[in-house]
Amino acid sequence: MFSGKTEELVRRLKRSQFGRQKIQVFKHAVDTRYSADHVQSHDATKIPSTLVERPSQILELVDDTTRVVGIDEAQFFDDTVVDVAQKLANRGIKVIVAGLDMDFRGNPFGPMPKLLAVAESVTKLSAICVSCGAPASRSQRLSQVTSQDKVLVGAKESYEARCRFCHEVENTHAKNSHGSTVREVSL
Ligand code: ZN
Repeated sequence: MFSGKTEELVRRLKRSQFGRQKIQVFKHAVDTRYSADHVQSHDATKIPSTLVERPSQILELVDDTTRVVGIDEAQFFDDTVVDVAQKLANRGIKVIVAGLDMDFRGNPFGPMPKLLAVAESVTKLSAICVSCGAPASRSQRLSQVTSQDKVLVGAKESYEARCRFCHEVENTHAKNSHGSTVREVSL
């Protein structure tokens, strides 16, 4: 989060467009925070995209002439997105997937571990920890934890970037016998 992953996706897709390759971009229908029909990053870079609820819809919607498929916020899809990405890649289509590898608890997020495993190339981007300035790999949830936490889409008022050591998960806080707070650092 705030690592520039959507900016990087848009940059790569635009580069393909300059090479006159037809691109198509998909994102999960849950991600409507800025626009229903664009992949738009926090800094307002945007590119037209199609909202889908299920990965299988991507297969139905990709044109025969498309050479590059972008999938944004891939962590919101179920595991079938892995099969869809593989099928497209096996057709010779370049598949560029952006997503959060960890949820706010620091656990692997949705289908991302499997996508990372089958990808030819992986780029891990990091933000800067707002607490200490170190490279940040985690998303700190700032609002109250609910059962729908995983699907709350990132925005500045809800999350901030933290490093491993500054990242705190509310549910793992516990009082020890001396009454002080014990913080569990997720590994
Ligand atoms: Zn930190």
